[in-house]
Amino acid sequence: MQPFQFLRATTTDQAIQFHADAATRFLAGGTNLIDMMKLDVECPNSVIDINDLPLSTITPTPGGGLHLGALSRNADVAHHPAVLRDYPVLSQAILSGASPQLRNMATTAGNLLQRTRCVYFRDTAFPCNKREPGSGCSAIDGFNRNLAILGTSLDCIASNPSDQNVALTALEATIHIQGKSGKREVPIQHFYVVPGTTPHIETILQPGDLITGVTLPPPRASVRSVYLKLRDREAYEFALASAAIQLGTHGNRITFARVALGGVGTKPWRSLEAEDALEGHAVELATFRHAAAEALRAAHPQSENAFKVDLAQRCLVRALTLATTTA
Ligand SMILES: Cc1cc2nc3c(=O)[nH]c(=O)nc-3n(C[C@H](O)[C@H](O)[C@H](O)COP(=O)(O)OP(=O)(O)OC[C@H]3O[C@@H](n4cnc5c(N)ncnc54)[C@H](O)[C@@H]3O)c2cc1C
Ligand code: SF4
Repeated sequence: MQPFQFLRATTTDQAIQFHADAATRFLAGGTNLIDMMKLDVECPNSVIDINDLPLSTITPTPGGGLHLGALSRNADVAHHPAVLRDYPVLSQAILSGASPQLRNMATTAGNLLQRTRCVYFRDTAFPCNKREPGSGCSAIDGFNRNLAILGTSLDCIASNPSDQNVALTALEATIHIQGKSGKREVPIQHFYVVPGTTPHIETILQPGDLITGVTLPPPRASVRSVYLKLRDREAYEFALASAAIQLGTHGNRITFARVALGGVGTKPWRSLEAEDALEGHAVELATFRHAAAEALRAAHPQSENAFKVDLAQRCLVRALTLATTTA
């Protein structure tokens, strides 16, 4: 680990003021940042501890939604009565990840910004465009079994590893940001960027931007939500493919659909194609299969991960089936 300056902020304004440049990092739960620093993948000049900021509450919004403070712990969100009642997909997603100990530390904002698990990104002995722009991508001709098949580029095929973020995408969450030029709100669908020729840029955040929270819109009446995660083992493992859905039906018709996929995209992958293929159509296996095929139509698999095309489709079909058959 490289030497760095350690600062503790007590107000959001102070945290933003301390954030001098792109080589500064905020410290929340530390479960990702500290790992990256120990591996010399992240070498910040300054680390600003933000744990004293008043950003850990989970509160109803005036419009009937729910606001998750940036520092709300993953465990607190997953077990919150309003989340269990109104946004079960988020609780299921968070509880499918990591371990109880990690979820007690990990925060909503830290989870949004966790880095890829691509093995070459985490090993400084290998070229990696995301870690060192212009150095090359070791994964394209290397070990890429767990990497992305949607949103990839010739420069990077890293998958976004988060479960929480897939559920937040299906829920159409809004990210609240406070930066040097004021406050702004960004829909999660516009928060992440695909790698293109600049894989080191993962979000629209600028230096000094502090995430202050995430808002969930009001829950829709009679809409079921499900998170399904497929992985190599049942615990302590990242998704090979996952699906977060919200589904509303009237009689045998699908009236409302939101679909996001995990494990297969370079960002949490909202599938408007699947939503189009579901809304207005009959609740039946043929509809689900067609929607899943549409969701993966643009997939671009690599040497070791072509199996994900079929796996992700099966995952989505199963999630849709669960949403329409369980009590
Ligand atoms: C062994 C292990 C297994 C795991 N398994 C899973 C899994 O199955 N599924 C899954 O989804 N995740 C998994 N994780 C990842 C875990 O969820 C993340 O490490 C965690 O969510 C990160 O949150 P944190 O608060 O600790 O972030 P930190 O490590 O504190 O920060 C992460 C990044 O976010 C930035 N940041 C934090 N807060 C803010 C803010 N308010 N504003 C701006 N920037 C901020 C930091 O500067 C840093 O760059 C696993 C982690 C480990 C170690
Ligand atoms: S896939 Fe992305 S993160 Fe992995 S080695 Fe290539 S450039 Fe680096």
